Amino acid sequence: MNKLFLDPKQPLHTCKEEKCDGCPVSEKLVCHFNGKQLTWFLLLAFPIFGLGGYGIFTFNVWIFAAWIAMILLYFLLIEIRVMCSHCSHYAEPELTSLKCWANYGAPKLWKYRPGPMSFMEKFIFFAGLIIIFSAPAAAFGLQERFWFMGIYIFAVILGFAFLHIFLCKHCMNFACPMNAVKKKDREDFFDKNPGVKDAWEENDE
Ligand code: SF4
Ligand code: SF4
Repeated sequence: MNKLFLDPKQPLHTCKEEKCDGCPVSEKLVCHFNGKQLTWFLLLAFPIFGLGGYGIFTFNVWIFAAWIAMILLYFLLIEIRVMCSHCSHYAEPELTSLKCWANYGAPKLWKYRPGPMSFMEKFIFFAGLIIIFSAPAAAFGLQERFWFMGIYIFAVILGFAFLHIFLCKHCMNFACPMNAVKKKDREDFFDKNPGVKDAWEENDE
Protein backbone atom coordinates (compact mmCIF):
# COMPACT_ATOMS: atom_id res chain seq x y z
CA MET A 1 0.00 0.00 0.00
CA ASN A 2 1.35 3.44 -0.83
CA LYS A 3 0.64 6.29 1.53
CA LEU A 4 -2.49 7.60 -0.15
CA PHE A 5 -4.26 4.59 -1.73
CA LEU A 6 -4.28 0.80 -1.74
CA ASP A 7 -1.91 -0.94 -4.15
CA PRO A 8 -4.03 -1.59 -7.30
CA LYS A 9 -2.11 -4.82 -7.99
CA GLN A 10 -2.87 -6.28 -4.58
CA PRO A 11 -6.25 -8.02 -4.25
CA LEU A 12 -8.62 -6.87 -1.53
CA HIS A 13 -8.47 -8.62 1.81
CA THR A 14 -11.91 -10.14 1.08
CA CYS A 15 -10.77 -11.43 -2.36
CA LYS A 16 -9.56 -15.01 -2.82
CA GLU A 17 -7.32 -14.20 -5.81
CA GLU A 18 -3.56 -13.79 -5.56
CA LYS A 19 -3.23 -10.99 -8.09
CA CYS A 20 -5.48 -8.41 -9.74
CA ASP A 21 -3.77 -8.46 -13.16
CA GLY A 22 -6.26 -9.46 -15.86
CA CYS A 23 -9.21 -9.76 -13.45
CA PRO A 24 -12.43 -9.21 -15.45
CA VAL A 25 -14.16 -7.78 -12.37
CA SER A 26 -11.83 -4.77 -12.47
CA GLU A 27 -13.29 -3.80 -15.88
CA LYS A 28 -16.75 -3.34 -14.35
CA LEU A 29 -16.22 -2.60 -10.67
CA VAL A 30 -13.76 -0.44 -8.80
CA CYS A 31 -11.87 -2.40 -6.16
CA HIS A 32 -9.03 0.13 -5.88
CA PHE A 33 -9.16 3.89 -5.85
CA ASN A 34 -6.82 6.62 -7.03
CA GLY A 35 -6.24 10.36 -6.89
CA LYS A 36 -8.06 11.04 -10.16
CA GLN A 37 -11.29 9.50 -8.87
CA LEU A 38 -10.99 11.36 -5.58
CA THR A 39 -10.36 14.65 -7.39
CA TRP A 40 -13.46 14.19 -9.57
CA PHE A 41 -15.55 13.42 -6.53
CA LEU A 42 -14.32 16.52 -4.71
CA LEU A 43 -14.90 18.69 -7.79
CA LEU A 44 -18.45 17.38 -7.84
CA ALA A 45 -19.10 17.82 -4.12
CA PHE A 46 -17.45 21.16 -3.34
CA PRO A 47 -19.61 23.44 -5.53
CA ILE A 48 -22.78 21.88 -4.09
CA PHE A 49 -21.65 22.23 -0.49
CA GLY A 50 -20.21 25.68 -1.21
CA LEU A 51 -23.46 26.98 -2.64
CA GLY A 52 -25.51 25.25 0.05
CA GLY A 53 -23.27 26.65 2.78
CA TYR A 54 -23.59 30.14 1.34
CA GLY A 55 -27.39 29.85 1.43
CA ILE A 56 -27.50 28.76 5.06
CA PHE A 57 -24.79 31.20 6.20
CA THR A 58 -26.68 34.18 4.79
CA PHE A 59 -29.85 32.92 6.49
CA ASN A 60 -28.50 32.32 9.98
CA VAL A 61 -24.93 31.82 11.14
CA TRP A 62 -25.93 29.50 14.01
CA ILE A 63 -27.92 27.26 11.71
CA PHE A 64 -24.89 27.28 9.41
CA ALA A 65 -22.71 26.09 12.31
CA ALA A 66 -25.23 23.34 13.13
CA TRP A 67 -25.33 22.30 9.45
CA ILE A 68 -21.53 22.01 9.32
CA ALA A 69 -21.56 19.98 12.56
CA MET A 70 -24.22 17.72 11.06
CA ILE A 71 -22.14 17.21 7.90
CA LEU A 72 -19.06 16.26 9.91
CA LEU A 73 -21.04 13.97 12.21
CA TYR A 74 -22.85 12.30 9.33
CA PHE A 75 -20.03 11.81 6.83
CA LEU A 76 -17.31 10.99 9.37
CA LEU A 77 -19.29 8.80 11.76
CA ILE A 78 -22.92 7.97 11.03
CA GLU A 79 -22.76 7.17 7.32
CA ILE A 80 -19.56 5.23 7.90
CA ARG A 81 -21.35 3.06 10.46
CA VAL A 82 -24.62 2.46 8.59
CA MET A 83 -23.24 2.18 5.02
CA CYS A 84 -19.45 2.10 4.62
CA SER A 85 -18.92 -0.55 7.31
CA HIS A 86 -20.57 -3.00 4.86
CA CYS A 87 -18.03 -2.27 2.11
CA SER A 88 -15.11 -4.52 1.11
CA HIS A 89 -12.85 -1.46 1.14
CA TYR A 90 -13.73 -1.05 4.81
CA ALA A 91 -12.59 -4.63 5.44
CA GLU A 92 -8.94 -3.83 4.67
CA PRO A 93 -7.23 -4.62 7.98
CA GLU A 94 -4.26 -2.27 7.56
CA LEU A 95 -6.43 0.79 6.95
CA THR A 96 -7.15 3.07 9.89
CA SER A 97 -9.06 5.51 7.68
CA LEU A 98 -10.83 5.16 4.34
CA LYS A 99 -8.81 5.62 1.16
CA CYS A 100 -11.56 5.57 -1.44
CA TRP A 101 -13.27 7.97 -3.85
CA ALA A 102 -15.84 9.27 -1.36
CA ASN A 103 -15.43 9.70 2.40
CA TYR A 104 -11.66 9.68 1.95
CA GLY A 105 -9.96 10.05 5.33
CA ALA A 106 -12.99 9.08 7.44
CA PRO A 107 -11.75 7.10 10.46
CA LYS A 108 -12.54 3.40 10.71
CA LEU A 109 -14.04 3.33 14.19
CA TRP A 110 -16.64 0.65 13.57
CA LYS A 111 -16.24 -3.03 12.88
CA TYR A 112 -16.58 -4.42 9.37
CA ARG A 113 -20.03 -5.95 8.84
CA PRO A 114 -20.41 -7.65 5.45
CA GLY A 115 -23.87 -8.24 4.00
CA PRO A 116 -26.86 -5.96 3.41
CA MET A 117 -27.86 -2.90 5.43
CA SER A 118 -30.79 -3.30 7.82
CA PHE A 119 -34.00 -1.30 7.42
CA MET A 120 -32.95 1.02 10.24
CA GLU A 121 -29.53 1.59 8.68
CA LYS A 122 -31.17 2.53 5.37
CA PHE A 123 -33.58 4.84 7.19
CA ILE A 124 -30.73 6.63 8.98
CA PHE A 125 -28.72 6.80 5.75
CA PHE A 126 -31.51 8.52 3.80
CA ALA A 127 -32.66 10.70 6.72
CA GLY A 128 -29.15 12.15 7.05
CA LEU A 129 -28.87 12.84 3.32
CA ILE A 130 -32.31 14.48 3.18
CA ILE A 131 -31.60 16.75 6.16
CA ILE A 132 -28.16 17.82 4.88
CA PHE A 133 -29.19 18.48 1.27
CA SER A 134 -32.64 19.95 1.87
CA ALA A 135 -31.56 22.49 4.52
CA PRO A 136 -29.86 24.88 2.04
CA ALA A 137 -32.87 24.76 -0.30
CA ALA A 138 -35.13 25.68 2.63
CA ALA A 139 -32.76 28.50 3.66
CA PHE A 140 -32.80 29.98 0.15
CA GLY A 141 -36.59 29.63 0.04
CA LEU A 142 -37.09 31.37 3.41
CA GLN A 143 -34.95 34.26 2.15
CA GLU A 144 -37.11 34.34 -1.00
CA ARG A 145 -34.03 33.84 -3.15
CA PHE A 146 -35.77 31.49 -5.52
CA TRP A 147 -33.20 31.68 -8.31
CA PHE A 148 -30.52 30.47 -5.91
CA MET A 149 -32.88 27.82 -4.62
CA GLY A 150 -33.50 26.56 -8.16
CA ILE A 151 -29.80 26.55 -9.04
CA TYR A 152 -28.98 24.70 -5.82
CA ILE A 153 -31.67 22.05 -6.38
CA PHE A 154 -30.52 21.62 -9.99
CA ALA A 155 -26.89 21.22 -8.81
CA VAL A 156 -27.90 18.58 -6.26
CA ILE A 157 -29.89 16.62 -8.85
CA LEU A 158 -27.02 16.86 -11.34
CA GLY A 159 -24.55 15.82 -8.64
CA PHE A 160 -26.54 12.71 -7.74
CA ALA A 161 -26.95 11.88 -11.44
CA PHE A 162 -23.18 12.00 -11.93
CA LEU A 163 -22.73 9.99 -8.76
CA HIS A 164 -25.11 7.36 -10.08
CA ILE A 165 -23.40 7.08 -13.45
CA PHE A 166 -19.75 7.26 -12.45
CA LEU A 167 -19.68 5.78 -8.95
CA CYS A 168 -22.83 3.85 -8.01
CA LYS A 169 -22.75 1.75 -11.20
CA HIS A 170 -19.22 0.59 -10.36
CA CYS A 171 -19.20 0.51 -6.57
CA MET A 172 -18.43 -2.74 -4.75
CA ASN A 173 -20.59 -1.81 -1.76
CA PHE A 174 -23.79 -3.57 -2.85
CA ALA A 175 -25.32 -2.85 0.56
CA CYS A 176 -25.75 0.84 -0.26
CA PRO A 177 -29.37 1.56 -1.34
CA MET A 178 -28.01 3.71 -4.18
CA ASN A 179 -25.77 0.94 -5.57
CA ALA A 180 -26.52 0.35 -9.26
CA VAL A 181 -24.18 -2.52 -10.18
CA LYS A 182 -25.68 -5.04 -12.62
CA LYS A 183 -26.64 -8.45 -11.19
CA LYS A 184 -24.09 -10.29 -13.36
CA ASP A 185 -21.24 -8.01 -12.25
CA ARG A 186 -22.33 -8.42 -8.66
CA GLU A 187 -22.23 -12.22 -9.03
CA ASP A 188 -18.75 -12.02 -10.56
CA PHE A 189 -17.56 -10.00 -7.56
CA PHE A 190 -19.18 -12.48 -5.17
CA ASP A 191 -17.32 -15.36 -6.89
CA LYS A 192 -14.01 -13.64 -6.13
CA ASN A 193 -15.05 -12.59 -2.63
CA PRO A 194 -16.67 -15.68 -1.06
CA GLY A 195 -16.87 -14.23 2.47
CA VAL A 196 -18.91 -11.32 1.15
CA LYS A 197 -21.14 -13.70 -0.78
CA ASP A 198 -21.72 -15.86 2.32
CA ALA A 199 -22.71 -12.80 4.35
CA TRP A 200 -25.28 -11.84 1.72
CA GLU A 201 -26.68 -15.36 1.57
CA GLU A 202 -26.96 -15.51 5.37
CA ASN A 203 -28.79 -12.15 5.45
CA ASP A 204 -30.95 -12.66 2.39
CA GLU A 205 -32.49 -9.26 1.48
S1 SF4 B 1 -12.11 -8.89 -7.63
FE1 SF4 B 1 -10.20 -9.32 -6.53
S2 SF4 B 1 -8.71 -9.78 -8.13
FE2 SF4 B 1 -10.43 -8.74 -9.12
S3 SF4 B 1 -9.84 -6.57 -9.16
FE3 SF4 B 1 -11.07 -6.91 -7.31
S4 SF4 B 1 -9.57 -7.35 -5.69
FE4 SF4 B 1 -8.52 -7.60 -7.65
S1 SF4 C 1 -19.07 2.52 0.49
FE1 SF4 C 1 -18.07 4.02 -0.89
S2 SF4 C 1 -17.48 5.69 0.48
FE2 SF4 C 1 -17.88 3.93 1.79
S3 SF4 C 1 -15.90 2.84 2.02
FE3 SF4 C 1 -16.93 1.91 0.28
S4 SF4 C 1 -16.17 3.01 -1.50
FE4 SF4 C 1 -15.72 4.29 0.30
